[in-house]
Amino acid sequence: MLRTHTCGALALADVNKEVTLSGWVQKTRDKGGLIWIDLRDRYGLTQLVMEEGRSAAEVIEVARTLGREYVVSVKGIVIERVSKNPKMITGDIEIDVTSIKILNKSKTPPFTIEDKTDGGEELRMKFRYLDLRRNPLKDSLMLRHRLSLETRKYLDSQQFIEIETPYLIKSTPEGARDFVVPSRMNEGQFYALPQSPQTFKQLLMVAGYDRYYQLVKCFRDEDLRADRQPEFTQIDCEMAFVEQEDILNTFEGLIKHLFSEVKNVDIEKMPRMTYDEAMKLYGSDKPDLRFDMQFVELNELVKDKGFSIFDEAELIVGFTAKGCAEYTRKQLDALTDLVKKPQVGAKGLVYVKYNADGTFKSSVDKFYNESQLKTWADKMNAQPGDLMLILSGEDEKSRKQLSVLRLHMADLLGLKDPFNYKPLWVVDFPLLEWDEDTQRYHAMHHPFTSPKPQDIALLETKPGAVRANAYDFVINGVEIGGGSIRIHDRDLQKLMFKHLGFSDEQAQDQFGFLMNAFEYGAPPHGGIAFGFDRLAALFGGQDSIRDFIAFPKNNAGRDVMIDSPSIIADEQLDELRLKVVIPKKD
Ligand code: ASP
Repeated sequence: MLRTHTCGALALADVNKEVTLSGWVQKTRDKGGLIWIDLRDRYGLTQLVMEEGRSAAEVIEVARTLGREYVVSVKGIVIERVSKNPKMITGDIEIDVTSIKILNKSKTPPFTIEDKTDGGEELRMKFRYLDLRRNPLKDSLMLRHRLSLETRKYLDSQQFIEIETPYLIKSTPEGARDFVVPSRMNEGQFYALPQSPQTFKQLLMVAGYDRYYQLVKCFRDEDLRADRQPEFTQIDCEMAFVEQEDILNTFEGLIKHLFSEVKNVDIEKMPRMTYDEAMKLYGSDKPDLRFDMQFVELNELVKDKGFSIFDEAELIVGFTAKGCAEYTRKQLDALTDLVKKPQVGAKGLVYVKYNADGTFKSSVDKFYNESQLKTWADKMNAQPGDLMLILSGEDEKSRKQLSVLRLHMADLLGLKDPFNYKPLWVVDFPLLEWDEDTQRYHAMHHPFTSPKPQDIALLETKPGAVRANAYDFVINGVEIGGGSIRIHDRDLQKLMFKHLGFSDEQAQDQFGFLMNAFEYGAPPHGGIAFGFDRLAALFGGQDSIRDFIAFPKNNAGRDVMIDSPSIIADEQLDELRLKVVIPKKD
């Protein structure tokens, strides 16, 4: 063994022991014959000490050649420190070194291996193995490990079994874009990497494995954002002989278990909110419940008073920002600019200041008098000192725009404490959503989701109004999980495909294997998948999932460390009978 202890283990109780430690040189200090070295491994830091004249000459000689990140093994005696460092786990002791051996040298690292580093993003990605030596990343990966371990423990305790499903599967047109893999043995044909194990887990239910889970990589060829990676991990689960309520309860259990075991946080309430209610009150299907600012409809109070913008609007809706009545012109203009950005799309913003002295000042003073504005304030629960912010226009659009403003106000008011966890279930999602581009309905969740039985009749007449037995799990405005009760009846599944614009042949060709399986005793079943990387980031109090993945891709989907994707050799292309035609740049 190259060590008897780790660098995070020794304490006063070990004084006088002879120990061997191995690790990386964090830092050396050489002060007139006294040399200190901080030795690091993933468990912590231990201070080594050597003294000219007292320590062996060759120890001093080797110590003086050490650079940052050299890998060394040292032998020595644990001694009590004269000046202790209460911030370090090992801060009471140091090692009086008797021998030292260099196991490997290191070039000077391109950035400092400290909690706060001087390295830029790109450089750190290129030398990810050095970045991973830093505490913040190490802590993130440790947290991820704890989460996966506790997930497995909980699911195992509930009789779930982990089963692996294949990564080389078949491309399907639904959902996101697939990553494809050419098949050498089947000329001209391609596998697809799974966007999720959805159909396989359903087949496992048909096979009788009534509680399945898997911590599984999924692949989606989508544009990237801070919380998206082309490959990511899900906690994927499926249960048979259950109804929606059973699934929600089982996975509330999982979430509670994770919070209590990993974060020591007691989650008491997990409210349920329908999709309609979430859209109505927060303009979002993933409402952030850490703060209030619920939407209030004002149509009845504001119409027919000569303000044409409100008169012509389908919806006039607003919320109250507490304590913001003293916002300046400039601050209000900035809010207006935000909602008018093309990606938000509002035409303007109406504000009403309910001044501390009980008077009102608004951007629509020409049309509404103080007593009218007071009725708005009453409806919107505004008190003196508050600011009312109001948008108008088409119903759904206005709500979504107001939702952007609500989140922005929460930022400005410092209401987004990352460690204040407010989970909820959003239930009763619409089954279908209309897609303007393709001029057809798409499955909002996926095509295997069951409509609510009482809504099936509406499929023919009012497809947009059909609700699904589908649910999302949301924490702090982030969708962490989503699932549904599935269709397990061949005819209903066929009908769904028909409504999604598949011909019978297309449906049979792409999903025949599933529909056929439904003819051999498919039990009622349903499930859910949680975004594991997102869950880890949330537990770590961060927005970006990147540091919770050991080797992530950058925003262009590249791994800059191994330099991938890359071109492949002509022989490989020949073997696959592929030809790369690089389009000319115009
Ligand atoms: N397969 C679904 C997804 O990846 C989750 C589920 O329905 O269980 O979103």
